[in-house]
Amino acid sequence: MSCLFCKIVSGEIPSTPVYQDELAYAFADINPRAPVHVLVAPKEHIVSIADAGEQHEALLGHLVAVAAGIARAKGLTKGYRLVTNVGDDGGQTVDHLHLHLLGGRPMTWPPG
Ligand code: AMP
Ligand code: ZN
Repeated sequence: MSCLFCKIVSGEIPSTPVYQDELAYAFADINPRAPVHVLVAPKEHIVSIADAGEQHEALLGHLVAVAAGIARAKGLTKGYRLVTNVGDDGGQTVDHLHLHLLGGRPMTWPPG
């Protein structure tokens, strides 16, 4: 198992936990791009949403709901951004599906 986020999910590599349940693990991004920058990953190894199948639809919905719950818990009442990068053109650098929850400052659009 060489996947960085699988090692983080299993605890083999340390991280700063934010939330977890049987399906999802959320932790602080090591290189935060905003005052709040949390990654929400499935515990199951899935490369990206491009690799997710019909059987993962409920899981994907759960990840979004978890992210919204964290945003609520962190008091991001003015809004936030939820993004998932896919593949090279999407800027994905870790090939284990994750949502970026970014907040605590105004975001610009479009992203680079
Ligand atoms: P992406 O480029 O969308 O695949 O996002 C990968 C994210 O993982 C980046 O924002 C990195 O800062 C973050 N990251 C890389 N290594 C770690 C780590 N060991 N702990 C927490 N976040 C990490
Ligand atoms: Zn993985």
